Amino acid sequence: MQHQQSWPCPTCAQDTVFEQPPCADGHTDDGGECPEWICTGCGTGFLLGGLESVVEAAGRRAGAAA
Ligand SMILES: [Zn+2]
Ligand SMILES: [Zn+2]
Repeated sequence: MQHQQSWPCPTCAQDTVFEQPPCADGHTDDGGECPEWICTGCGTGFLLGGLESVVEAAGRRAGAAA
């Protein structure tokens, strides 16, 4: 099943419709949501879960340095 969501795309610089591509990584196998969204305007793919991981990793690095 494909979902659609409207978000401001940084590449298009305007609100754009994002589509979820068919998940090939098993994210939806257990009823979860696939973090992959693709802008229908410019085709840029965004990993919402990936963004959180980046923030989390940065925080962990800062903590280790202290
Ligand atoms: Zn997925
Ligand atoms: Zn876009």
